[in-house]
Amino acid sequence: MGQFEWGGQPHRRFNPLTKEWVLVSSQRTQRPWQGQVELTSAEAALSFDPQCYLCPGNARAGGRKNPHYTSTFTFDNDFAALRPDTPTGELRDGELLQAESEAGQCRVVCFTPRHDLTLARMSVREIKSVVDTWCEEFSQLTSQPNVRSIQIFENRGAMMGCSNPHPHGQIWANESVPDELAREVATQQEYFARHNSSLLEDYLRLEMKKQERMVCANEEFAVVVPFWAVWPYETLLISRRRIASLPELQEDERNGLAQILQEITIRYDNLFKTSFPYTMGFHQRPTDSTAAPGFHFHAHYYPPLLRSATVRKFMVGYELLAMPQRDITPELAAKQLREVPDRHYMESEQPLASSNIPKD
Ligand SMILES: [Zn+2]
Ligand SMILES: [Zn+2]
Repeated sequence: MGQFEWGGQPHRRFNPLTKEWVLVSSQRTQRPWQGQVELTSAEAALSFDPQCYLCPGNARAGGRKNPHYTSTFTFDNDFAALRPDTPTGELRDGELLQAESEAGQCRVVCFTPRHDLTLARMSVREIKSVVDTWCEEFSQLTSQPNVRSIQIFENRGAMMGCSNPHPHGQIWANESVPDELAREVATQQEYFARHNSSLLEDYLRLEMKKQERMVCANEEFAVVVPFWAVWPYETLLISRRRIASLPELQEDERNGLAQILQEITIRYDNLFKTSFPYTMGFHQRPTDSTAAPGFHFHAHYYPPLLRSATVRKFMVGYELLAMPQRDITPELAAKQLREVPDRHYMESEQPLASSNIPKD
């Protein structure tokens, strides 16, 4: 460990106007970009792409070669936004200029060796392997020094800034608890202190009773369009049993999670008969297990599409400056997601016209 460099090493800066932090990792600009490549339908069907740095046996940036993996494959991101060997640094220039070094780890999880699949096109058994891998990674990273929170997420589709169509997700382990998670830890803790039950447990019970915003459910999990959804087809995936992190899932719950992940992504794809772009990720307790009473494991899906495979919602002007705004009601979004088939559409079917989707 040498001297911390503010110009080139990962750190977070404090915004005194909002009291929020921003992660600065300028060393990432060299990362390869394979996301904008427009695929022809013949190319999209390739199960192996010799140019893809995630396919089995191919070389990655820096010359490392992927093994000939047959299930999931996990490795340290070659262009990590966070690094475990980041030296400690702190800047306190009065009240207004505050920053701290941020150590951590960035992992990449390939969901399958098949270049042409997505979670919506994988079997429940294959998705279960991904769930098992996430569980192991969470446990392994929790045991690392200086890891206080772990964010598992997937960016799906070039529209969401995904740098490679090969099915994969990421795991960022942080030295700090990011603002988004910290807020949800605090609200759940506060609710738990008042009610002695978890906020999401009570919320799910309410939604199951009302049946207005439910999308799908199995014995172990349920998916709803939350009452307060921001993105047009935003959903919240909640465990039926209150647990706080992935490793607490029992075997049948892991299967249940695999099944519901497959179902919600199929429903998304069927909505506009397209490979539906989204950002999804799990919210889990910070690694200090005593720090989050009432915390309830869940996942958020934030998809940008509004009424066709190409028309998307932007969060711009008023949304950036004032508050989020949405175009269709959460109740209508839930109804549409409920009513599409739970079997994946066939490639031969044409993309859905926007005519039957209400305009704003
Ligand atoms: Zn690939
Ligand atoms: Zn959350």
